Amino acid sequence: MGKLFELVPNISEGRDRVIIDRCAEAIAQTSGARLLETDPSEDANRTVFTVLGDAASIEEAALALAKTARELIDMREHSGAHPRIGALDVCPVVPLKNATTDDAVRLARRIGERIGEEENAPVYLYGDAARDERRRRLADVRKGEYESLEREIAKPDRLPDYGPASFDPKFGAVAVGARKLLLAFNVNLNARKVAFARDIALDVRERGRPARRENLHTPLYSQRGPILRYRTGAYPCGQCGYVGRSIEQTIAHAREKHMVDLERALRLAGVDPNKPEGAAARKPGSLKATMALGWALPSRGVTQVSMNLLDLDVVSPGLAMETVRVKARDRGVVVTGAEIVGMVPRDVLTDVGRYYLRRQGDRDEASDEEAIVVAVHSLGLNDLYPFRVEKKTFTY
Ligand SMILES: [Zn+2]
Repeated sequence: MGKLFELVPNISEGRDRVIIDRCAEAIAQTSGARLLETDPSEDANRTVFTVLGDAASIEEAALALAKTARELIDMREHSGAHPRIGALDVCPVVPLKNATTDDAVRLARRIGERIGEEENAPVYLYGDAARDERRRRLADVRKGEYESLEREIAKPDRLPDYGPASFDPKFGAVAVGARKLLLAFNVNLNARKVAFARDIALDVRERGRPARRENLHTPLYSQRGPILRYRTGAYPCGQCGYVGRSIEQTIAHAREKHMVDLERALRLAGVDPNKPEGAAARKPGSLKATMALGWALPSRGVTQVSMNLLDLDVVSPGLAMETVRVKARDRGVVVTGAEIVGMVPRDVLTDVGRYYLRRQGDRDEASDEEAIVVAVHSLGLNDLYPFRVEKKTFTY
């Protein structure tokens, strides 16, 4: 059996239809590559493509897209709500059928090497393909974004993995990586102020937030008094009044009492758990394997908690939705629905439908079609625009 991969490249253009179409053509004309979806966002000013294929066709599709993006997109003119570092901003490879993470890493590195050479462009490896642990997280690779590249690119710890270590004002740089199948899942709020979406995002993301004294009761956690800090001999829990005498005690307390991995949250926040003194006490978020931020979608008049669900075996869209719903209700905010960015494997949606049916104690065997209907309604996927199952889902 052949190995099947998914490629989910994002370009920094979400408004100019001519450029978007030319990039889509570059992918679609690659022999063996199946372009499943082209998903432009005006507010983010970026477009997400979903491509399926074997290793050879994925490699060629990525190269064709890099070449076209280099030709047509000029980063000097780019602005948008989403973090980005270059014209072809990110290019992740996902192992699907018969393919392992190692296969995806090899493929990603080959693509990165070729973009570096053939397009003479700076390339960073991230995710499972990273050669340096500090480049595993995309947010770290994109730190400072395009605007800081000129200043940063020649610094020893920011040197590209492939291509020239010099600033390319038109193209910027590209992050090529390998990762698990992830879901970009945005929950819509009825709040006008983006502060609510940001506050909820910090509550749910695995990395969490600095803990505060919760003596004031205001809808926004970020307004609840000063930040708590760890001091030698006093390590406050971010979630209750407990104060450990060592960080180990507080980590054990957090695991037993709140069922959260404080050590991991500290690491994700860049705090060394062996030397946390002086750092803000951490309040880990409630969802594992989740990144989140809050933003506004002016073109739709809504604010969103925008999440990346990094491991669907650990965090499902249903669980993410229900967690955000509780946090929103606590703040007097209503969740009106959600959107899935890009495409989703059909079995992810049927699982969501069955999750909601189980919550109702409905044990009757639901067909896949019935489960999908339940999922679409439960998540409110028709809130901003009609969710077309046949266009948004794929099977492989
Ligand atoms: Zn506690």
